[in-house]
Amino acid sequence: MEQIINRLDLLRKAMKQQGISACIIPGTDPHASEYIAEYWKERQWISGFDGSAGTAVVTLHGAGLWTDSRYFLHAAEQLEGTGIELMKQGLSETLEILPWLATQLKAGDRVGVNAQMFSLNAYSSMKSELKMNDLELVSLDLLAMVWTDRPSLPLKPFFVFETQYAGKSTTEKLELVRAEMKKAHADVFVISGLDDIAWLFNIRGNDVDYNPVVIAYALVETDKATLFIAAEKLTDETTEYLKGQVVTVEPYLAIYDKLKNIKASNAVMVDGGKLNQALFESIPSECAIRNTMSPVFKLKSVKNEVEMEGVRKAMAKDGVALTRFFIWLEEGLKSGNLSEISVSDKLREFRSQQENFVGESFGTIAGYAAHGAIVHYSATPESDAKLKAENIFLLDSGGQYLDGTTDITRTVALGTPTAQQKTDNTLVLKGHITLAKALFPVGTRGTQLDILARKAMWDLGLNYGHGTGHGVGHFLCVHEGPQSIRMDENPTVLVPGMMISNEPGMYRTNEYGIRIENLVHVVPAQKTEFGQFLKFETLTLFPIDQHLINFDLLSSSEIEWLNDYHQRVYQTIAPKLNEYEREWLSKKCTPYVSKG
Ligand code: ZN
Ligand code: ZN
Repeated sequence: MEQIINRLDLLRKAMKQQGISACIIPGTDPHASEYIAEYWKERQWISGFDGSAGTAVVTLHGAGLWTDSRYFLHAAEQLEGTGIELMKQGLSETLEILPWLATQLKAGDRVGVNAQMFSLNAYSSMKSELKMNDLELVSLDLLAMVWTDRPSLPLKPFFVFETQYAGKSTTEKLELVRAEMKKAHADVFVISGLDDIAWLFNIRGNDVDYNPVVIAYALVETDKATLFIAAEKLTDETTEYLKGQVVTVEPYLAIYDKLKNIKASNAVMVDGGKLNQALFESIPSECAIRNTMSPVFKLKSVKNEVEMEGVRKAMAKDGVALTRFFIWLEEGLKSGNLSEISVSDKLREFRSQQENFVGESFGTIAGYAAHGAIVHYSATPESDAKLKAENIFLLDSGGQYLDGTTDITRTVALGTPTAQQKTDNTLVLKGHITLAKALFPVGTRGTQLDILARKAMWDLGLNYGHGTGHGVGHFLCVHEGPQSIRMDENPTVLVPGMMISNEPGMYRTNEYGIRIENLVHVVPAQKTEFGQFLKFETLTLFPIDQHLINFDLLSSSEIEWLNDYHQRVYQTIAPKLNEYEREWLSKKCTPYVSKG
């Protein structure tokens, strides 16, 4: 607390010196990443708040921290005594950042931000909104002046992601990117997204938690590709590899000079939703700008056959690990010693015994009883609940294998479930099955399918507050775009090869949470006189808890889907198990036969 007050003092001194009245400090990095390296944790340094989402705003006389409901309690504790006010996002009485600033500042005041931390789209909309209030947005890295002992950037070596897993070489991928550049009449393409770079150059590393990305920038020109990366991260092998793919290597920050020297006659392609404003400002103003969604973002979302073959292997391994884990859980439950954290650790251990396992794809969400109702719950030593042979348990977890990335949620009854728990779970399952069975024409967007997962709940006035599906990377980020299945508009059309999650849920505050999540893959279905249709192939392989199902609420075709799914799970996983495990799995996959 003392420390935070001192840091705020330092920052305000610097602000006064620079003639700045307020500064906005978000929790991101220059690559618009979801998980960031310690080096860039500016919001955490200035406020003490370490949640994954939140923005700090400091004026000469006050300060606020904006975060969403999952962090209200946590942030309140961490901000106590610092003088930073908790601004609860999503509540009607809470002003958003810019309107709040308008109430705190006077006409002509200057607002400073580190332009590296904002995409050029976000920066320009912020600039015009401030201007409406006679406030000026200034790009100025104030934190660099006061945070002098920051940790260094990760300098660990990266590795080559072999074509045997990636399916396409960098040379082939560069050709695809150049074809897209040509369509857009662009001569140069600036890439800042770390997963875009990892995919394009077939490199992986461990610079941040959970996402095997490598901190770098890249530039693709019609006759040249350059990777901007710290020299310390290169080995003889990776240097040799990049040379072989005709990729030039330059120091990480050399990209700024490189951009400044782009010929005025060149057209530069940028993804304004991702490229940071500081890089954008380095591009000569004479250059024509093609602000469009990164072609790599789109290419990467459509998995090739080799990637999909890998994903299927990863799913089978995940199914084996989960089988061993749930057997262990059922037995351990009797001891009364299992807790949310201890089971998460054990699950990681089971996954790590699988071939080509690299790490987890995100922090496991293990939510027992009421904790399951907190959508992004992450157990801490203080909250760590003991699992008892009653109520229900939600477990959302995933693995990174060289073959692919997994993400699965299962909700299981640890005792005898109540009628309401069974009804709720069955409604979630109906949504899950309806989406899994969807047949849709070419050109359909995820937004249009979202209702399939919600209809059974909406019919009863029930709903869930999160998206139904997110794209998933291939041994990359577990959250990947541009496709999604959610209520928000998204113009991206679903095309064969896209991988996406199917994860409806239901949350009863202070009671329990339910979510059933499988990953699916878009594949062609039949062609009719009305055109080509598409469907989903479910990839995840692990049984859905039948104790939590009220079969009277399922139609015969829903039961048929479930029985078929369980049969496929058993047939794929059973050969990889010992007899005892097979026996256990066979019980979980027993087809339901209606008594009627
Ligand atoms: Zn998940
Ligand atoms: Zn997910």
